[in-house]
Amino acid sequence: MNPSFSSYLVNDVFGDPGLYVEVRWSRRALLFDLGHNDGLGPTRLLKAGEIFISHTHMDHFIGFDTLLRVALGRGKTLTLFGPPGLIDNVQGKLRGYTWNLVDGYPLTIIVREFHEREVRQAAFRASDGFQPSMRATVSIPHGDGPLFTILEDPMFTVKTVALNHRIPSLAYSLEEQFHINVNKQKLHEAGLRVGAWLTDVKQHIWQGQPDDFRFTVALYDEHRREDREFVLGEVKERFLTISRGQKIAYVVDVRYDEENEAKIIALAHGADIFYCEAPYLDCDAEKARDRYHLTARQAGLMARKAHVRDLVVFHFSPRYTGQGEALEREAMDAFHGD
Ligand SMILES: [Zn+2]
Ligand SMILES: [Zn+2]
Repeated sequence: MNPSFSSYLVNDVFGDPGLYVEVRWSRRALLFDLGHNDGLGPTRLLKAGEIFISHTHMDHFIGFDTLLRVALGRGKTLTLFGPPGLIDNVQGKLRGYTWNLVDGYPLTIIVREFHEREVRQAAFRASDGFQPSMRATVSIPHGDGPLFTILEDPMFTVKTVALNHRIPSLAYSLEEQFHINVNKQKLHEAGLRVGAWLTDVKQHIWQGQPDDFRFTVALYDEHRREDREFVLGEVKERFLTISRGQKIAYVVDVRYDEENEAKIIALAHGADIFYCEAPYLDCDAEKARDRYHLTARQAGLMARKAHVRDLVVFHFSPRYTGQGEALEREAMDAFHGD
């Protein structure tokens, strides 16, 4: 299977937390948290249009400035999703600079705050000197149990759950609606080539077009172009396999207690990759609890209970510098039940 999401941590396991997810086929990326992120560089930062913030402790939000700086002169809309208070935090950041020469800039920043019973939204436009506009309650979140769906795309869904970190810390899951695999052998046998036209086919499926939907694509053989009509259902039947989509979960900055654990397991259930913080060793569980963080063992136990396929632990406390392997081992032992 050729995965649609390619995900990796923004920094090393002792650095600021953050997850970068490239969405293949669509030239888009999603970014989870805005800690220090200079290492991503402008090209990758600019690909990220939707950014999901767990909370605005400094190690999760200091990278807002870097993103703002690369996006400033671009005709771009950035949408930030996050916990209550995010609108004020973004406004505070924007107020930290002088904006008298940006009126020609087409950048818009939309911020959506998820409260228990409502979603609040504000927009900040460079052309208005980033004065907030459209400050409004936009909707009631819809969800199942403690999980809320916050972004529904033809290709994927993002859900969130509010965890207790003494303040709300939002955890996220990203789920591909379904996965489309192309059978290259069968294409070949039918005298067709792999190419951009398959991206069109995928778009039609993601957009929910019916099986009798007809579309025309340009096929190239050497330098010859041929326009050919297909029926979506036939293409599916002959060349594609549609299977369960990929799932990624991202959990940071949370205390280990029953309620948080139940929410995390519901969110991460069956994930292909579970990115989970593991700042402390279990011998320091009391310290972890006082600081509203997890231990590596707790991360591993939850990964096990959530039946995830793969666990990646990170956000290690600097107190364990040089002992990264011990944290990793403790988490993996608990995950595998050793
Ligand atoms: Zn925190
Ligand atoms: Zn943190």
